[in-house]
Amino acid sequence: MLPYAHGAESEIANSYKVSVKLKLPYGLHDGQLIHINAAANGLACGCECPGCGAQLVAKNGAANQKAAHFAHHKSAECSTGLQTALHMAAKDIIARHGQLCLPGAAGDFSFTPGFWANFDFDAKPYTYELEHTDGFNHATSEYNETELGMLSRYYFAPYLAPIEAVILEKKTGDIIPDVVVTIGGRQVLVEVAVTHFVDAEKLEKIRTLGLPALEIDLSKIKRDLSLPELEELIIQQADYKKWLFNPALRAKLRDRRQRYFEACRLEIERLRAEDLREEARQATRQKWQAELAVRSPQERARIAQSKPAFYRNHYWPLSKCLVNGMEPVWHVDGCPKAVRRYHGVPYANVAVDCFECDAFQGFGPDRTQIVCLFEYLKNKEANAGT
Ligand code: SF4
Ligand SMILES: [Zn+2]
Repeated sequence: MLPYAHGAESEIANSYKVSVKLKLPYGLHDGQLIHINAAANGLACGCECPGCGAQLVAKNGAANQKAAHFAHHKSAECSTGLQTALHMAAKDIIARHGQLCLPGAAGDFSFTPGFWANFDFDAKPYTYELEHTDGFNHATSEYNETELGMLSRYYFAPYLAPIEAVILEKKTGDIIPDVVVTIGGRQVLVEVAVTHFVDAEKLEKIRTLGLPALEIDLSKIKRDLSLPELEELIIQQADYKKWLFNPALRAKLRDRRQRYFEACRLEIERLRAEDLREEARQATRQKWQAELAVRSPQERARIAQSKPAFYRNHYWPLSKCLVNGMEPVWHVDGCPKAVRRYHGVPYANVAVDCFECDAFQGFGPDRTQIVCLFEYLKNKEANAGT
């Protein structure tokens, strides 16, 4: 199976996943985020709510029946405390570490057999393939490419990337991303989601910026995760991350689409040329039959008898070309049109060149020669001109 990196979840990440019902496990002590397990019990913790700034009381004493947490002292529990705390913690963790595990991704470009037969250059096919892979792209890791029948797949595994620079909450274009990290000389936007996720409008703005963006989803993590555990999850793991947008793989897929379109165009041109050749052959046949129809029966019998001799005069012997490990290929040595040359000597590949050539009339009786009318047609043309 191919390494479809996204969606893979490690044991440790699964063990973190519990209820979405969240109580405040972090408080601000002298401007620093601390975990409830590191705080003194009660008001002695000296903590404020990271969301509303209210005084907190630490409920982590022996008498506390419930899981340890911070509660607002004289005010009602606010709705922003945990979100702000996790945001702060995540940004602080990223800023302090010189690395960040980036999620893996896979993007597919699929095409339909025979699609080119009904190809419409003005239509906009493959929007779906291009759009739905946006979420899995990434600019800096190595791409792997594989062709699986009608499918081209680009994929890469998660990896720990060294960070060159970190900027927190700086206006970038029309948006203020939580964190902007520089990896491999390129800016990557990092959004930390606790209760609010990037919406369609923001995603559109990110796309307009053309910068890769990933989202860290902390909405379902265990609420009493200690800071070292949160650190491990954010820096070392990819499980709670996904790509929102990445221009590089998108470009890869666009390029693949372009190559496919080009192949379609060539195939259509080839088919059209074949049709034209067939039409020309039919016209010649009809013209010849019309000419025959006005001849006398004796004349027609004489012509019918001379036909094999005429073809025999235009036989070109075939030679078998053997290349190690490959199917034998039939050549016409000395092709009069000189469609190919080997060390200056002209030749033609029967399957590729003769089948596409106007001069080709078919095979001789034992298939060791072809009937090639190139010289004959050339002379005929020259005589018609004089
Ligand atoms: S049929 Fe055309 S390509 Fe083939 S040998 Fe004759 S001239 Fe060359
Ligand atoms: Zn609060």
